Amino acid sequence: MTMHIDGRKLARRIEDAVASEVASLAERSGRVPGLATVLVGDDPASAVYVARKRAAVRKAGMRDLHRSLPAHASHDDIAAVIDELAATPEVSGILLQLPLPAGVEARPLIDRIPAVKDVDGLTTESVGLLAGRADGLRPCTPSGVIEILDSEGIAIKGAHAVVVGASDLVGRPMAQLLLQRDATVTIAHRRTTDLAAVTRAADILVVATGVPGLIGPEHVKHGATVIDVGITRTPTGLTGDVRTEELDGIAGRITPVPGGVGPMTIAMLLANTLKAALTQDRTTSSLSLSAAQPTRP
Ligand code: NAD
Repeated sequence: MTMHIDGRKLARRIEDAVASEVASLAERSGRVPGLATVLVGDDPASAVYVARKRAAVRKAGMRDLHRSLPAHASHDDIAAVIDELAATPEVSGILLQLPLPAGVEARPLIDRIPAVKDVDGLTTESVGLLAGRADGLRPCTPSGVIEILDSEGIAIKGAHAVVVGASDLVGRPMAQLLLQRDATVTIAHRRTTDLAAVTRAADILVVATGVPGLIGPEHVKHGATVIDVGITRTPTGLTGDVRTEELDGIAGRITPVPGGVGPMTIAMLLANTLKAALTQDRTTSSLSLSAAQPTRP
């Protein structure tokens, strides 16, 4: 029997833990973490994602510091908003919702977000911190996958993990996080020849391509853990990259779509916002501490 992993239940557990930590932080220091979501334009899918994130932020007792810009906003308009949020102490985290309207390049704008407020873990600095194994904020979806594996008691150390998809948002950071946990990691992508031969070697198979139904029984080793990150909207609902029903009795564990990785992404966003707030608190208090130290002659 293949076990279906309940991402919603785990996400709720993390969100509850964040909410209670937020409440005790507020009681201790009066500080309430705040997330600034920045939405540019009127892409309906982005509007839905941002609304969900904002609702989760409020539910966790954090400040919802949303900013909306019109579709015709220029690079300079967006940069000005990001700079203002970066300089505002009440803003613990900044999330620039992607994609941006055509004609505005995302990378230079993402890189204006200070690494300490980069709750999406996407700035060049955050990517470097991850690659250099230094402390920092990690991208939400791959961190959510690691949480799922840990909560299911799946051994990462020494396992052969295959990540299908090599994007900046999911595949690459996913591979880094698995490597840091001592997995043997292979990354496959659209130019991989004989995908099935590669994926059949996986103890842990993480699929993030956006190609519905790409992965079937021919791709999966008996007993492997299959994590389906893919989300594609179809007229009949959301569908993943994995033909889940065909893997029954083959995969050991599998994440469904919907209800697997998706809810974990928002839970990890909340966890990152809390972490950002705590880090900024520590930085501020150590700055004021060092300012209070008498200087030696
Ligand atoms: P992307 O388009 O940026 O990257 C897709 C990757 O898949 C590329 O590296 C490409 O080489 C690879 N790929 C494409 N076709 C392939 C094929 N036939 N064989 C092997 N590799 C192939 O996408 P992304 O931003 O990484 O997102 C991937 C999927 O994950 C999408 O469906 C997206 O909606 C979903 N997603 C879900 C969450 C979540 O919260 N669950 C978060 C982010 C992205």
